[in-house]
Amino acid sequence: MLTIGSHMSIAEGIAKAAENTVKMGANTMQIFSRNPRGSGYRNYEAREIERFQNIRKEYHFGPVLAHAPYTMNLASAKEQTYEFACMVIREDIARMDGLGIENIVFHPGSHTGIGADAGIQNIIAGLDQAITGQERIMVLLETMSGKGTEIGVSFEELKAIRDGVKHPEKIGICLDTCHVFSAGYDIVNDLDGVVKEFDRILGLELLRAIHLNDSMMPFGAHKDRHAPIGSGEIGMEALLNVLRHPAFAGIPVYLETPFDDEGHKKEILMIKNKLNAD
Ligand code: FE
Ligand code: FE
Ligand code: ZN
Repeated sequence: MLTIGSHMSIAEGIAKAAENTVKMGANTMQIFSRNPRGSGYRNYEAREIERFQNIRKEYHFGPVLAHAPYTMNLASAKEQTYEFACMVIREDIARMDGLGIENIVFHPGSHTGIGADAGIQNIIAGLDQAITGQERIMVLLETMSGKGTEIGVSFEELKAIRDGVKHPEKIGICLDTCHVFSAGYDIVNDLDGVVKEFDRILGLELLRAIHLNDSMMPFGAHKDRHAPIGSGEIGMEALLNVLRHPAFAGIPVYLETPFDDEGHKKEILMIKNKLNAD
């Protein structure tokens, strides 16, 4: 069975996000680990956490995915920026693990001029001060579009990060369909080839999550602009083919399309209907 959900607001708390997920006909969700554009977070009360745990148990949620804030740049050479990123990833891995959340994903970062290799070394050092090896949570590196000086535009860069850390067994991958398409991996005309390349460089066993998004921007544009499923440059058939691909069977899927809960509900229903028509 398909495990699918969308990115949910935690403005009204984590239990409310789980409730809204159920209403949407979804069986998993992605949430931000804290305010995505600032630095704050609030600690959930015990009763709210219990509600969250009960809902996901009762409705058989698949793995919940936490997303680290965008303001965090673990590749940065600027001391303040870097120290902030180190603190955020350390705190949020521990906080999300404490909630029993299965995976946390983050954008590897942008090297802003020091070069990808130096940026990757910063990311590795940042992860090494954050991951103890005792966690249950998996830390996922997201495939990126390569806008600006983004790291993670190639499978090789993600591989270099994983290979460099003290606890590679805690590192997995989140594949974003919009990002890989924009990065120049042709999932429209050669999905099999991209899957083989992923397996050759990283290994399919590292794939823990799929961000299912269409792309407003054309193939290889290195631009990160999500479009609703079927209304972008990737298109409906190619995205359905991702969901149908045997290599991705059982991998949880999260929509990050520009919709509210009502829009995501319709999108999920449409996807399920189209897959069922096969
Ligand atoms: Fe992301
Ligand atoms: Fe994404
Ligand atoms: Zn994106």
